[in-house]
Amino acid sequence: MTTIDFLRPGLTRLDCPMPRFASVNAYVIGSPGHQLLIDTGMPGLATEAVWKDAENQGLVSGVTDLVCTHMHRDHTGQAPRLLALHQAKLRMSPAEHSHITWASSAEESRRQSATQRFLHMAGVNPEHAQKSRPIDYSMLAPFPPDYAPLADGDHLAAGGINWEVIIGGGHSSAGVCLLSEDETLFASGDQILSGAGPHVSVWSETPDADPLGDYFAYLDRLAFIPETTLVLPGHGKPFANLSAQVTKIAAAHHRRLDAIMASANKAMTVQSLSEFAFSARAAQRFGDLLPGMVMSLANYLWHREKLIRTVTDDGVALFEKA
Ligand SMILES: [Zn+2]
Repeated sequence: MTTIDFLRPGLTRLDCPMPRFASVNAYVIGSPGHQLLIDTGMPGLATEAVWKDAENQGLVSGVTDLVCTHMHRDHTGQAPRLLALHQAKLRMSPAEHSHITWASSAEESRRQSATQRFLHMAGVNPEHAQKSRPIDYSMLAPFPPDYAPLADGDHLAAGGINWEVIIGGGHSSAGVCLLSEDETLFASGDQILSGAGPHVSVWSETPDADPLGDYFAYLDRLAFIPETTLVLPGHGKPFANLSAQVTKIAAAHHRRLDAIMASANKAMTVQSLSEFAFSARAAQRFGDLLPGMVMSLANYLWHREKLIRTVTDDGVALFEKA
C-alpha cells in the first residue's frame, strides 16, 4: 500500500513499494512549478502507479530538478520516466552517475563473472555462490546520459530551498546528501537510516576498497548538524536527533570490528568471519549482501594494519590478526 505522507506544506514523502526491506522513500519538495524530487523508488509498474497517483492528485507538477542520492535502483528506478515527463534536470554525483551507466549497460555475463570471482575470494562455497546473481540494472538502460554533476560543498537552489551538498562514501561510492541552509532539513539518502543504519559493503568490482573507512569519515563530518534538524532518510520515517543515530550506527560497526579482531587468531576467510560479526538472523536477512558487508569490516582492519590479508594462488582472501 502506498503512503503519501504530508510532512509539512511543500514537503511530501512518497512511501514506495519494494520487494525486500519494506519500502523506499521519494520526496517532493516545493510548490508546483518549482519542485525538487529527491529519489524515485524502484523500476517497474508498482512504483510508477505511486507516482501516477501523486500526479493525479496534483502533488507533482512543474518539477525542475531531480536529485538521485545514489545509483541503487530503488532510488533511480523511475528517473527515466520522471525526467522525460517533467523535462527536469537530473543531478547526481559523477561517480554515482558513471556507476549506474556502467551497471545498466554492462553485459550480464561480465557482471556475473565478477560476482562469482568476488564470492570465491570471500570463501563462499561454490554451490551457494552459483545461485547468487548481481543486482539487475538492465531495465534502466540506457540510463539518461545528460545530468548536472553535484560536488561536495556545492550550493543548490531547488524546491524553494537553498541546499548545501554533502557527499560521502560508505553505503555507495559518493552518495549525495542535502542540508537546507536553515538546517531544518537533511536529506540523507541511504547514508543515514534509522534502526541499524545502512549496509556498508565492498562490491565485486572493487574488492580492495575500504568503504567503512569512508563511512566513518563521513559520519565525523555530520557533528555540526543540530538535534532539531529533520532527517529525511532513503527508507523509513523521518526523524530528528541525528547525532544520537550517528553514535548508534558507529557503535554497531565498532562492535562488529571488535568481534572480528577477537576471532581472527588464524587465517580465516570472509565467509568464516561472518558468523562472528553477524547473528544467524541478521545473516539470513542480508542474504547475498553479507559477504560484501563482512569484507568491508575485514578490509577496514586490513587497511589499518590490524589484520594481514593474503590472497591464495587461486584467489581466496585470508585475514589474520597482524
Ligand atoms: Zn542504497
